[in-house]
Amino acid sequence: MAEEIKNNEEVMAGNFIHTFIDEDIAPGGEYEGKTVHTRFPPEPNGYLHIGHAKAICIDFGTAEKYGGMCNLRMDDTNPTKEDVEYVDAIKEDIKWLGFDWGDRFYYASDYFPQMYEYAVELIKKGLAYVCELNAEQMREYRGDLKTPAKSPYRDRPIEESLDLFRRMKEGEFEDGSMTLRAKIDLASGNFNMRDPVIYRINHMHHHSTGDAWCIYPMYDFAHPIEDAIEGITHSLCTLEFESHRPLYDWVIENISSPSKPRQIEFARLGINNTVMSKRKLRALVEEGYVDGWDDPRMPTLCGLRRRGYTPKSIRNFCEQIGVAKVNSTVEYSFLEHCLRNDLNDSAQRLMGVLRPIKLVITNYPEGKTETFTVENNPNHPEDGEREITFSRECYIESDDFMEVPVKKYQRLYPGNEVRLKSAYLVTCTGCEKDEDGNVTTVYAEYDPETKGGNAPDNRKVRGTIHWVDANNYVPATVNLYDNLFTDPEPDTGDKNFLDYINPESLVTLENCKIEASVKDNSNIHFQFMRLGYFTVDNKKSSKEHLVFNRSVSLKDSFRKK
Ligand code: ATP
Ligand code: MG
Repeated sequence: MAEEIKNNEEVMAGNFIHTFIDEDIAPGGEYEGKTVHTRFPPEPNGYLHIGHAKAICIDFGTAEKYGGMCNLRMDDTNPTKEDVEYVDAIKEDIKWLGFDWGDRFYYASDYFPQMYEYAVELIKKGLAYVCELNAEQMREYRGDLKTPAKSPYRDRPIEESLDLFRRMKEGEFEDGSMTLRAKIDLASGNFNMRDPVIYRINHMHHHSTGDAWCIYPMYDFAHPIEDAIEGITHSLCTLEFESHRPLYDWVIENISSPSKPRQIEFARLGINNTVMSKRKLRALVEEGYVDGWDDPRMPTLCGLRRRGYTPKSIRNFCEQIGVAKVNSTVEYSFLEHCLRNDLNDSAQRLMGVLRPIKLVITNYPEGKTETFTVENNPNHPEDGEREITFSRECYIESDDFMEVPVKKYQRLYPGNEVRLKSAYLVTCTGCEKDEDGNVTTVYAEYDPETKGGNAPDNRKVRGTIHWVDANNYVPATVNLYDNLFTDPEPDTGDKNFLDYINPESLVTLENCKIEASVKDNSNIHFQFMRLGYFTVDNKKSSKEHLVFNRSVSLKDSFRKK
């Protein structure tokens, strides 16, 4: 971990958020002598996704860099969508990434009483009023860049607003009939400042406060108050809140705020061939397009985990994409590249055959079995060795044989010699087919002088193929994945993302044969030679029947570019 954090600091050296903070904590700065304090404020209305991982790395990573603190706060001011199930999942995912909020876990809804008092304070100062326009009228009176907004209730007496606001809280009025608005500037070029609504009536059950409240604060009013109460110094959020910052600052300036947090915005992460909004991810789950939030095709952290992503690969990804002020889309292949880098270093090697056909070595004695010792990970000799067995019959990948080879094909075809990885050189002598013409068995002869798969100096053997002993293997199911969406940008413009679901995003192979050593192996990440990196599916796999998910193939399409 120490090394990762060092990298983190190096990469973030050019991070503009840090430049701002450096100024703030320098002598004479706004927060001179203060501990840097950030927060991660998810709305518990879905599972965290890779975009959240970026925010988490920025929020927790910044606190870490400055020896500060980062709070975890459930932003649950909106009563309509929250669910307790999500709270636990959010905590689990953040811990999995390797971050810790200590004892600073909060619910924004705990601050409802203070928020109400601050709203009353604004009314008393003549800075807020109860408005009786409905949503439609409000839109109509909004004005445009040349015309100021109209607000017929803005000059109503303070006493009247105080009374109405109290009665809003008591439940006297219907949803949508009244709002509390901040009195700021009807002519502002920033529409967020044109007397924004800061409280609305909503007779809805809240998962934590129950029916105690029927008025709820708007995000722009609630968020700065939450930050101020918790003593946050730097409130880091995504770019869409940039034009809300004047309102954030206005709230802090005009309430008796216990502290003065500073909002800094950074670019949202987008990745191609996927969707990132929780609403859309929820639709995929609820409408059955995927097998839950943790479906390995989902960009959720639990999905990526089940796919075989490691915390390190995700943190490296977040560090390397950097922190910018301009929204951009990152290629999915870059995320895969980061995973491959980690697994190349750490994954246990094995042989597995996904689409098997039998190979019979006709000149190998029947009933004989040999054992070969091979390295667990060529990058790490200290990871030790394992034993694999070889006998007269083994399984090979069906596409490693062609009766009539295409140009440049260097694997098995009649007359050609290939290396069975770590075992022997074998020369193909023919095949057997069923009545439909499908190859059922391939035949070959081995050269006993090539034990370990070593070719004599004078012999050129171009192809090396993997295999599994047909008398000693573990059967398994293997899931192969492709992009969930066929369109690189499935939710831009007026596209309906559901129209672009890739029907081939999941291919399940039931008949796979895995090297027997997998049985008593405690690893969860494997490289199946020539095929990619795979992980045990923690949801579907059992001792009786193993299920693997392909995390990523070996071919790096990112590096090629
Ligand atoms: P969504 O649109 O997916 O529902 P959200 O912004 O409503 O996202 P929140 O739970 O409110 O989700 O997000 C918590 C924090 O994570 C916020 O500070 C938000 O800015 C940040 N965040 C959300 N999505 C991304 C993203 N794609 N890239 C970077 N940060 C993000
Ligand atoms: Mg949100």
